[in-house]
Amino acid sequence: MDSYDVIIIGTGAGGGTLARHLAPSGKRILLLERGDWLPREPHNWAASDVFVDNRYVSEDTWYDKDGKAFQPQIHYFVGGATKLYGAALYRLRKEDFGVLRHHDGISPAWPIEYEELEPYYTQAEHLYEVHGARGEDPTEPPASAPYPFPAVSHEPRIQQLSDDLAAAGYHPFHAPCGIRLNETEMHFSTCIRCQTCDGFPCLVHAKSDADVLGVRPALEHSNVTLLTNAKATKLETDSSGSRITEVVVERNGETERFTADLVVVACGAANTAKLLLLSANDKHPDGLANASDQVGRNYMFHDSTAVLALSREENPTVFQKTLGLNDFYFGTDGFEYPLGNIQMVGKSQAEMFRGEKPLETKLAPEWTLDRVARHAIDFWLSTEDLPKPENRVTVDGEGNVTLTYSETNATAKQRLYDQLKSMLPKLDMNPGHLIHRFAYMKNDIPVAGVAHQAGTCRFGTDRALSVLDRDCKAHELDNLYVVDTSVFPSIGAVNPALTAMANSLRVGDHLLERMGSSTQAAAAAPAAGTG
Ligand SMILES: Cc1cc2nc3c(=O)[nH]c(=O)nc-3n(C[C@H](O)[C@H](O)[C@H](O)COP(=O)(O)OP(=O)(O)OC[C@H]3O[C@@H](n4cnc5c(N)ncnc54)[C@H](O)[C@@H]3O)c2cc1C
Ligand code: SF4
Repeated sequence: MDSYDVIIIGTGAGGGTLARHLAPSGKRILLLERGDWLPREPHNWAASDVFVDNRYVSEDTWYDKDGKAFQPQIHYFVGGATKLYGAALYRLRKEDFGVLRHHDGISPAWPIEYEELEPYYTQAEHLYEVHGARGEDPTEPPASAPYPFPAVSHEPRIQQLSDDLAAAGYHPFHAPCGIRLNETEMHFSTCIRCQTCDGFPCLVHAKSDADVLGVRPALEHSNVTLLTNAKATKLETDSSGSRITEVVVERNGETERFTADLVVVACGAANTAKLLLLSANDKHPDGLANASDQVGRNYMFHDSTAVLALSREENPTVFQKTLGLNDFYFGTDGFEYPLGNIQMVGKSQAEMFRGEKPLETKLAPEWTLDRVARHAIDFWLSTEDLPKPENRVTVDGEGNVTLTYSETNATAKQRLYDQLKSMLPKLDMNPGHLIHRFAYMKNDIPVAGVAHQAGTCRFGTDRALSVLDRDCKAHELDNLYVVDTSVFPSIGAVNPALTAMANSLRVGDHLLERMGSSTQAAAAAPAAGTG
């Protein structure tokens, strides 16, 4: 049986980042990824393939709380969900790490403060080549370094939106973007600034995803091995139940077993919970590391709404995701609770609407789909989803996943929508028209929108209420760690990936120390070849 120093299961924002961080240490690292490399093909940028035919969405079937089957919006590839993500790479707000009182209850504190994660946010922004501008967003937490790259410029219609928002007294800012764009020397730029970014794979590998900037750099080190199409199905423990002894993997129709001193799970929130629950044994009868009965609970995924407003003039913007607004993050006049974040989402294209339902709006029939798309300005509204123990992932004996979920914070979500709608006349947009669109996929079951899933194995100091300790090590096992979004005790209202990446770097430093490999030594070690 092959033996390693570290096995990392999953290669997305959490696992891919950790692999890159640990690779220079020289330790023997095995990466297990259930998916394959995402194929580079013209379909990558075809809206109908991606949005209507769900070409890159897994064929998994999950069940909702009523037992109704649905296809979750989940992506099994090297790089995980980041292959398709919008690469809006936000830090949580400093306040998100403390207790925040919301309309529907409490958003709990993290076991670490913002200041502890701050250096890792800075490191993650460098690793993922984030473009942004500090000092524009009043809710922005303190940062120890500028963004490594200048903000991505607004195209004229979005610049006008920014100007109109500022004139109305708001504080629009340049959104932090992980696209490898060199606007001053476009002939050297990897990114070509196209309209098929948010929700699409990047055909030219210019998106700062965990494949391109996590796994591939890690594989330049000969001590790192990647197995694709390798699905971890069970973690075995020793007879005392305190150490993982084997990772059981299905690959090419065979069962294989691997062993390592340290095992790190980063399968994404639902699949990490699934793996732990399926790994129940005599010592862990309710699932591995689950004496607290917290594994799978506190599932969160953001109360998000994608809407389009209709600009009076046409909106010819190509890359729209350059603006954000956090004026209502912590509340608004007459509503003392947090509302959330407003940002742009990828520009509507008429082909996408075949997977959506704008014709059901009162605009039809006088507005054709094509005309709607030409005038659309597309927003993404996110309100914090609160962790509730009853919102949970469970698995039956056959490994079928049930996602039991009831919405939280619906009032705050509606207030955020109403707030934006009330602003439209000042923004040169048709008043009254703020049309819901299904971003990213054809599916009218909200629970299937699992893009921002988090919170099923939270870390904390109270063993009765958490699965992991503050180093993200399972309370009950000596050598089991988790580094994906499942560790989040709360999710805030900004996109989760950068926080998963930063936390992965933080846990990575702990692992390096535990393995007796200093972080400086790891950073200085030369790449030894292709693994
Ligand atoms: C369309 C879309 C747009 C998004 N836009 C943004 C955005 O703009 N900004 C942002 O911050 N976030 C965005 N997100 C969310 C972001 O991508 C996720 O929060 C992030 O990738 C989560 O990281 P993770 O490590 O938890 O999981 P993932 O990135 O999903 O990685 C999990 C990995 O584990 C693998 N895996 C699962 N089970 C197993 C198993 N049993 N064995 C082996 N491997 C396994 C999966 O194949 C996958 O590669 C978006 C997501 C989507 C889908
Ligand atoms: S905008 Fe840039 S990063 Fe995004 S898909 Fe196009 S080329 Fe790739």
